[in-house]
Amino acid sequence: MGAFQKEVWKKALSKDEQGELWQARGDGSPIATHHSASGEIDPEFIYVNRMWTEHPRDSLRERETGQRLRREEERVRTTCQRRRARLLPVLGAMCALIGLNRAPSARADEPLVVLDPGHTTSHPGATSVRGTTELGYNDAMVALLRMKLAEKGFRVGVTRVPGEEIGLDARAARASARGAWLLLSIHHDSSQLRYLEQVERDGKPAYRATRPIRGYSIFVSGRNPRYENSLAVAKALGRRLLALGRPPTLHHAEQIAGERRPLVDRELGVYRFDGLRVLKRATCPAVLLEVGVLVDEADEAYVSDPVRREAIADAIALGLWDARRDGGVPSTQVSSRRQHQPENR
Ligand SMILES: [Zn+2]
Repeated sequence: MGAFQKEVWKKALSKDEQGELWQARGDGSPIATHHSASGEIDPEFIYVNRMWTEHPRDSLRERETGQRLRREEERVRTTCQRRRARLLPVLGAMCALIGLNRAPSARADEPLVVLDPGHTTSHPGATSVRGTTELGYNDAMVALLRMKLAEKGFRVGVTRVPGEEIGLDARAARASARGAWLLLSIHHDSSQLRYLEQVERDGKPAYRATRPIRGYSIFVSGRNPRYENSLAVAKALGRRLLALGRPPTLHHAEQIAGERRPLVDRELGVYRFDGLRVLKRATCPAVLLEVGVLVDEADEAYVSDPVRREAIADAIALGLWDARRDGGVPSTQVSSRRQHQPENR
């Protein structure tokens, strides 16, 4: 046979899984078989190369070869399409996880918002009235916010990815080291035990508030070196959240053990909580938002509703956009200095 012009079908799997071995068939036509990492031939990935001989003397054999190749090509194309269709949901989920599908991407000089999804798998936070834990609510809201903030032109980062274990100091350190314009910690709320009763939902223990405790709340720390900037953002957030028609919860200001948080702005639901570690350890402006109260049936339903959840995310994005427009937070420089070392856990 003469020289071959080859066109190798690309396999939609990782490079590691691709190990090509060229073999010659008895009739001289080359085939490419793909070997898995373990060295075994993957029968679904036997690719036949398109080929032309330079010397078409044996036209009959060439025609037969051509027909066979076209059939093989068709089979390979169908296999590839089927494999791609199976891979797409997996790729989509992976992209969502690492934020690759969060277009449009912002310019490098746009402000960086580092989102901080509260809690970890080993410490999943409050237990809701449905027996679910806070962690899932936080992760879902952060995933939504990544998209909404990117749409508003912000650069967006996260302190942890789903499933990652991380301490409070490390969260603050990550945002600070990146010179974040803002660290925004996302949580969902509960209340003191005296207002909770234990119930059972779907065989799981759950907690239900014995009186209505509803609404969002926003926290800033007076021990954050950018307190004034943090407060400006907190108020801008409060204005947009209040505009949704759901007032803030004021239960953190109640004069009982575990609460007694001073309200900086009662109408907007902004509290001062100096000891909040993730806020006080950050060297960049930092705000913590309790999106809603999970032990209250009505409020849990509110923050679980996809339409309302999206409206909340839009309001948060608009609030940050307002703060930026109004100069609430001057642009920050990336600092190589870390005031606080990551927490060892
Ligand atoms: Zn929390």
